[in-house]
Parts: sequence; structure tokens; C-alpha cells
Amino acid sequence: MHKTTPRDAAPDAPADLVRFDHVVKRFGDHVVLDQLDFAVQRGEHVTLIGPSGSGKTTILRLLMTLERVSDGVIWVDGEPLSHMRGPDGGLKPATEKHLRGIRKKIGMVFQQFNLFPNMTVLQNITEAPISVLGLGREEAEQRARELLDLVGLSDKVGAHPSQLSGGQQQRVAIARALAMRPEILLLDEVTSALDPELVAGVLDLLREIAHSTDITLLCVTHEMNFARDISDQVMMFDSGHVIESGAPEKIFGDPEHERTREFLSAVL
Ligand code: ADP
Ligand code: MG
Repeated sequence: MHKTTPRDAAPDAPADLVRFDHVVKRFGDHVVLDQLDFAVQRGEHVTLIGPSGSGKTTILRLLMTLERVSDGVIWVDGEPLSHMRGPDGGLKPATEKHLRGIRKKIGMVFQQFNLFPNMTVLQNITEAPISVLGLGREEAEQRARELLDLVGLSDKVGAHPSQLSGGQQQRVAIARALAMRPEILLLDEVTSALDPELVAGVLDLLREIAHSTDITLLCVTHEMNFARDISDQVMMFDSGHVIESGAPEKIFGDPEHERTREFLSAVL
């Protein structure tokens, strides 16, 4: 499926699906990520927890190529996301073209849905598969209808986002991300903007996706029961660093660090 094997991509390419290698992200003088290292294996479901403002969204936005690293390297599937190979074999900052190629592997769902308001539900889901993947309209629409069935919105194909509830809009956003058949799905507090009565339905949908597909999930959430249910690995993150990580039973049941205990007692 991929033209390059990890070994072709770079001599020291890691086997992990995602690896942050000494990643630094600064906004001006403000260091948000400070030599951040972590890895996600193929098919793994990883949840990122931690206080507001600690840089969780920045991690996802870097992966989505909406931000560029200040230093360090992000690897995706054995290829450097933030960099590309120069003529001398070394790594140099990635060009837009390189980024476009590699970001097809990654989909993201945002807290605020970010649907295209002037398009129907169907158009929202088919736009990128047609314009980015080059799918024919018929195939893209068939894929969209299957996904709308999965998210329980088959009757909303022709609706506009403003005609939908927040929960329905977020289901469309999930379908839109899945329509690109990403290898990695990034979820950034996807239920935080929903009315309380709509949260459970969206979380149930995500549980189903987590359990019934082999997609790799990297998920930022304050829904700790959901995190416990779906995660293989939970990472507690603060001030630019992973403070501790491990199985949900360990992080929620017997955390090692005082900072983790404080955080969990505040949110649980
Ligand atoms: P979290 O998602 O954990 O709440 P964020 O990644 O959104 O945290 O933000 C981490 C820090 O980076 C915050 O202090 C935030 O103000 C800052 N930040 C994020 N994006 C930008 C930006 N585009 N310009 C300047 N500062 C930013
Ligand atoms: Mg955030």
C-alpha cells in the first residue's frame, strides 16, 4: 500500500505508527512542548489527559500539520511528518507537498465540529474524498451513505449543519473524518461543546468505532469513564511533558505521581 518501507524512508525510522522525538513547540517565547517524546503503536487507542492549557490540542494540531514543530521530529508510519529527506540523506523541514501526502493518513475531529456551514451533510463528507483522494462522486457518495448509516444519520443527507443538533453535527464530523479512511484518528475533546444529554450518544458511537475498527486513536478527553473503556494507554500530560503513562487501570487506579492524583481528584 505504501511506496516506501520505513527502512527506505530514513535509516533510523521507528517502527511505531506515531513517534514524537524531542519535539519542541514554541509560540514566541512560550515553550508549550518541551522535548516531548512519546509513541503510539499501530491499532493502539491512546488517551491524553491533563490540565487545560498544557498543550494537548497543540500535539494534535502538529500531527494534523496545522502547526509546525519548532524543533525535534514527528514520525508517522516510519516517515518524518515534519521533515523530509534532503539530497544529502539528512532531514530538512517538510514542504507543503510532502505534508499533503502524509496528512492523508490522519483525520481529526474538533471540539467545535468545524463543518462547512454552506454545504449539506453529504457534501461535507464527500468534499475531501473527491478533492483530495480523487474519488469519483458516486463512490464518494456511497461511502458517505455507509458512514451516515454507521453514525445513525441516514435521514440527514440533505440537511445543512445549522439544521442539526450539536450531537448530530459531531456525528457528521466523525463520518467526515472516517470518509478519508485515515490510519490515525485524532479526537480533541469532541464532546466538550455538547449539551449534557447529547454526550452519551456520541461517546457510544466512538466506543463502537474503537471496538469495531482497527483504526489507531489518539484522543484528548475529560470523559474519564470513556477513557477507561477505550484506552490501551493513558498519558498524563502537563507543562509540555508526559508525566506518566500506562494502562488505564494503572493511571486511574494507582497513579504514581502526585500531579496525576491531583488532576484526577479534580476531574473525577
Ligand atoms: P490544551 O489543549 O491542553 O488546553 P493548547 O495546546 O490549546 O492546550 O495550548 C497550550 C498553550 O499554548 C496555551 O498556553 C495556549 O495559550 C498556547 N497556544 C496555543 N496555540 C497558540 C497559538 N496559535 N499562538 C500562541 N499561543 C498558543
Ligand atoms: Mg485543547
